[in-house]
Amino acid sequence: MGHFFVLSHQLFTWQALLDILLISAALFFLYRTLLRLGTWKIMAGILLALLIFILASMLNLKGIEWIYENVSHVAVLGLIVLFQPELRKVFEKAVSVSPGLTKGLNAQFPALIADSLTKLARQRCGAIIVLPGKEPIQDKISGGFRLNAIPSQPLILSIFDTHSPGHDGAVIIEGDKLTQFGVRLPMSQSDRLSEEFGTRHHAAMGLAEQTDSLVLLVSEERGRVSLFANGEMQPAVNSDQIITAIVNHQREMGFFGGEASFRIRKRTLLQTVASLMIALVFWSSLMIAQSEVVERVLPVAIDYAPPGENLVLTGDKANEIQLHLTGPKSVIDSLALDPPSVKIDLSRMGKGIQTIIITSENLRLPRDVTLLDASPQQIKVTLTEVAEKNLPITPQLIGKLPGSLKIKKITVTPATVLVTIPVSSGEKLDNAILTTPIYLESISTDSTLFCKIIARPTIQPVAKRWPDVEVMIEVME
Ligand code: ATP
Ligand code: MG
Repeated sequence: MGHFFVLSHQLFTWQALLDILLISAALFFLYRTLLRLGTWKIMAGILLALLIFILASMLNLKGIEWIYENVSHVAVLGLIVLFQPELRKVFEKAVSVSPGLTKGLNAQFPALIADSLTKLARQRCGAIIVLPGKEPIQDKISGGFRLNAIPSQPLILSIFDTHSPGHDGAVIIEGDKLTQFGVRLPMSQSDRLSEEFGTRHHAAMGLAEQTDSLVLLVSEERGRVSLFANGEMQPAVNSDQIITAIVNHQREMGFFGGEASFRIRKRTLLQTVASLMIALVFWSSLMIAQSEVVERVLPVAIDYAPPGENLVLTGDKANEIQLHLTGPKSVIDSLALDPPSVKIDLSRMGKGIQTIIITSENLRLPRDVTLLDASPQQIKVTLTEVAEKNLPITPQLIGKLPGSLKIKKITVTPATVLVTIPVSSGEKLDNAILTTPIYLESISTDSTLFCKIIARPTIQPVAKRWPDVEVMIEVME
């Protein structure tokens, strides 16, 4: 277990940072939209699944890991389908600008709305006023009548007067213009609003869940004003609260221009930090899981660099060795596909029997892989001192010439060959270099034959290749 936490500094690259930031951003937006939609149960489910995955990889539960590895692609597709409306919203948000909303917003506007609402509440006149945010609402609402009016208290009171034909539904105020009245809002799709509230409340909640609008509601039954934003309902006990809510909403949407958008609300900050923390925990657990340490025995080839001058490798030599390695699973896996070779440099070794102990120095192993053991642990090679010598080439004559023929003269070209031979072996050098057999029986006239050379393995040609030999046999009666 000592190898378990091998998180090293090199892991914190810019890619890692980007990775963490992107995960945080995804979490942040997921959390925000899910909170507004009231589908926080799905969010909790996703977090739980993440937690199980992290635990499983920490405890090395192979089965669960396998399921996650193989199902996660499908799950991502599922999530995309599930959150298609929210994803669409994010992209809409990215391209939508709020044209011309900054101009004409004056200090009186929030107070005008607040006063109108408190008056309507006192008169127990039901009403809904929608102040859209940056997200488009037109595809969420339906019905109603178009208008292009400057909002005023008499106008608002007239619209919501129960005797007026357009009092049913909601009023939309975009920027400095009252643009629609008698509009139907979408019903809430969550169950967060209890059934004691009627259709008006559920309609107000619906739009607040699906868009970033601020929805102001007057209840005719209760004579109270309620505010709906981000999928939450808040009672407004006095007109100051209504004014604050409108001003905050305008600020948040950046309708006041530059200065406002720099004001980050405490809650947003908290959510950002939380997203970052979760992403960091998730990411580092993933890194730990990936750097899970395994042991593996790998057979690798041995590469001998040739010995120095006047030395040759004689006798048997090992060609393969078993390496017992340990390191991160991913690294070991890729090593198994492309095994390293053990390099043994004979060039700086002297003559005699040499013992080479296999250490990580003989290997070019990745940094986080350790050599635990090698089998065999040591390799013995015999280096023999050799000298160069010119040895005569002896033709290998087999049998006798036919009849009464005799050999007159034999010429071998080349007559000698330059070879290296072990110095102190005491081997006899007579007839050390032979030609391939020459059968005399079939020779009846002067002939020239082409032969190869046969020699003991300890004797090697300096030219690396044995020369071809020409043997000229002259015969006589
Ligand atoms: P209140 O507290 O004012 O009674 P409520 O939540 O109990 O509100 P209802 O009593 O059902 O709701 O109010 C019905 C009114 O709500 C309708 O007459 C209409 O003006 C408004 N309303 C109902 N559905 C919608 C909708 N989809 N969009 C806009 N307004 C709606
Ligand atoms: Mg009612």
